[in-house]
Amino acid sequence: MGALDGRVACITGGTRGIGRATAEAFVREGAKVVINGRSEEKGAAALQEMGAGDSVHFIAGDVKKREDCEALIQGTVDKYGKIDILFANAGGASNHAPVAELTDEAMQDSLLWNFWHTFWCMRAALGHMIPQESGRIINMSSVEGKVGKPAISIYVAAKHAINGLTKSAAQEVGTLGITVNSVCPGAIETDIMAAEGPQAAEAMGMTYEGLLDVFAQESAIKRLNEVEDVAEVCVLLASDAGAGITGSMISIDGGSSPY
Ligand code: NAD
Repeated sequence: MGALDGRVACITGGTRGIGRATAEAFVREGAKVVINGRSEEKGAAALQEMGAGDSVHFIAGDVKKREDCEALIQGTVDKYGKIDILFANAGGASNHAPVAELTDEAMQDSLLWNFWHTFWCMRAALGHMIPQESGRIINMSSVEGKVGKPAISIYVAAKHAINGLTKSAAQEVGTLGITVNSVCPGAIETDIMAAEGPQAAEAMGMTYEGLLDVFAQESAIKRLNEVEDVAEVCVLLASDAGAGITGSMISIDGGSSPY
């Protein structure tokens, strides 16, 4: 018996990184999982690598677009008959700069990628979860959804906004058997970290290696976490055992953030 037997999950940005590790953990626990990404080719490769047969399905879509988010949730229901778990995981930010030098485009892109995508997917998923009076929503925030840092305000602001949306939605649907939480990892060496980290580090006046070391040193464990550390927390939040946890912003940062 798996902790998620019979459940249907949808994970935005699930072809690699934290989303992929979480998809694998959900399948291991008995769930059917829809993963998403922009590229059909990368989606097909991910499905092949996972080797989970009909337990995993890929739906292409760009989470920065509302119609793609809505089609992803509807596609999950069309494929597996319902949606029990949403992990709004995709996100990131590029073109970092101090607030005084920020472009509208950089801020808008980060809000679309992180905040609007989370809102669009949540709203669509709740449309199915509220009538069935059960559900689990897990939103991807970050340690930067809890603390301010210079030069990366586009990311800090978007992840804080996700935490606000999470807390309010949790209050709205708590009596309906639906939990809404966010996960707040510290730095993890994934593809997006390798792609966007160097520019973020430069904007913060340090090297990429220096940035990773700062993350490790400001934690209690003095090292970075791995994608599996986040995936296993998502399993708990998605399972029956997580029924009493809602409106929480769960830190998975080795003790870096103050709360
Ligand atoms: P990753 O690059 O390893 O994986 C990102 C996944 O999202 C991939 O499957 C990619 O194809 C998909 N994706 C990216 N943009 C997309 C878009 N516009 N539409 C659809 N799919 C898209 O990244 P990751 O490190 O696993 O990051 C996942 C989430 O975790 C992000 O929201 C990120 O902000 C957050 N996070 C990451 C870290 C870290 O240090 N890696 C720390 C805290 C929070």
